[in-house]
Amino acid sequence: MKLFRKKPTSKINRIRSFALGLIFLGMIVMYVGVFFFYYFKSQIVFSIFLVLGMLALGFSFVVYFWIGMLSSRTIQVQCPNCNHYTKMLGRADICANCNQPLTLDKNLEGKTFNQDYNNKRKSKKLEELDDAKHGDKKS
Ligand SMILES: [Zn+2]
Repeated sequence: MKLFRKKPTSKINRIRSFALGLIFLGMIVMYVGVFFFYYFKSQIVFSIFLVLGMLALGFSFVVYFWIGMLSSRTIQVQCPNCNHYTKMLGRADICANCNQPLTLDKNLEGKTFNQDYNNKRKSKKLEELDDAKHGDKKS
């Protein structure tokens, strides 16, 4: 999957492709189950694969539901790069249209985009590291 994604994409897009991937995974698992059913006449293996496939499908629905919840918390902003409106989630996100990294936080302005800024613990670490770097430059 990483081969096709050279640029980072917005969070909602990534979660959406994850949910889509789960649906495919569930279908593949169920097909494998059917294969076992016909070739090995094993109903037990078939039911195991069926349950696994159902779980993957069920989980993808949960993820889709989660996307819906997240979407209600997004902020719509106009991308300064392509002038399209895009939905932002968290402190740092990426334009869904042109993959331009965006932030609403002035403290992050001009910094290299890092997904970790949305994680409280990782973000703190990053900022401390950054402050240390700038401190070195000044002195
Ligand atoms: Zn854009």
